[in-house]
Amino acid sequence: MNPKHHSSYIELSESALKKNIRFLKKTIGKGVQLSSVIKGNAYGHGIKTFVPLAERCGIDHFSVFSASEAMEAVNYSTKNSRFMIMGDLHPDEIPWAIENQVHFYIYNINQLEKTIKFADKLNKTASVHLELETGMNRFGLDNESLPEAVSLIKENTDRIIVEGVCTHYSGAESVSNFLRIQNQKKSFSKQCKWLQRKDIHNFMKHSASSAAALIYPETRMDMVRIGIAQYGYWPTEEVRMHYFMKNMKNTSSKMISPLKRILTWKSRIMNLKEVGPGEFVGYGNAYLTTKKQKIAAIPVGYYHGFARNLSNLGRVLVGGKRTAVVGVVNMNMMLINVTDIKDVKLGDEVVIIGKQNKLKISVTSFSDMTNYLNYEVLTRLPQDIPRIIVD
Ligand SMILES: *Cc1c(COP(=O)(O)O)cnc(C)c1O
Repeated sequence: MNPKHHSSYIELSESALKKNIRFLKKTIGKGVQLSSVIKGNAYGHGIKTFVPLAERCGIDHFSVFSASEAMEAVNYSTKNSRFMIMGDLHPDEIPWAIENQVHFYIYNINQLEKTIKFADKLNKTASVHLELETGMNRFGLDNESLPEAVSLIKENTDRIIVEGVCTHYSGAESVSNFLRIQNQKKSFSKQCKWLQRKDIHNFMKHSASSAAALIYPETRMDMVRIGIAQYGYWPTEEVRMHYFMKNMKNTSSKMISPLKRILTWKSRIMNLKEVGPGEFVGYGNAYLTTKKQKIAAIPVGYYHGFARNLSNLGRVLVGGKRTAVVGVVNMNMMLINVTDIKDVKLGDEVVIIGKQNKLKISVTSFSDMTNYLNYEVLTRLPQDIPRIIVD
């Protein structure tokens, strides 16, 4: 089926991604590995389409959350990229990771023991990254378990290679976490030095996500794990402001973002009708017409990731104009008011996220209206909406 015949489809811009990657590589500098974070179905962009696209744009390292995501990414990779699992790996999938040279985090002793056992069985060596607990209190080897981990590793040097040592900050995108992050940096540095004193050497160090990499240069170390920024979004308004305050030559210069959104979400008008004044539209009494209005149906609803909270509140673009969602968002449909749009007709393009002519609907505008993070709006886009690559 033609992807454009689905009730909606997503376009990914190759030139935008290229620009983002160029900007990020320039920012982090030579000698720092850029790992593209593609968990959450590549932040809703679709692993299947995004992985080969990113490879064409110069990415050769990917980070995922789970084994199933790693399998999907490996499957669609068209180059010799490396893959790293930063989170959940069921013990039974450890052999798959070892055999496919997929690197993975070790965040507790149990996982380390299982890894050694399976590597023994396969007569192979597992490459792992030690996730250190530095203050997030989520997961990771802490000061109590680290000595035991080190003894296990040193007894099994033919089975375990410590490829990397890493940690994750508890919210680098907000200045309110500044102190906590400074403390995490200190702990991480101490723990790395301690590992070196224990004769664990030659590991790469990594700690930064998009926000940390953009705000705290010292967190870039040997590798950065960039998610949201590569897709063209600032992690928060604070990060955006920080960037512009540091990089604007003078206050009159224009704020042109170096990050370009790569995703556009489109649908089309499936029905048009006129409704007289004083009529309720759609379910219940959420919307009442005050005059004769033209109402269009769009085959996108909360099942497709368009939040029900946007009932009577959301905006979409039709005919180059912003139009309002009227009434409640249904499971598979929503209604919009197209009364003021000239020559509107069946099949007309509807932009739900992205640009149409001069106007745009940003993911951030969704966040403003619904309390969802931009991360959340993106990852709610279902896997089965077709993704198409455009220039
Ligand atoms: C998601 C994630 C990242 C990337 O975060 P962004 O804010 O999207 O750049 C980096 N590291 C870990 C461990 C993550 O889970």
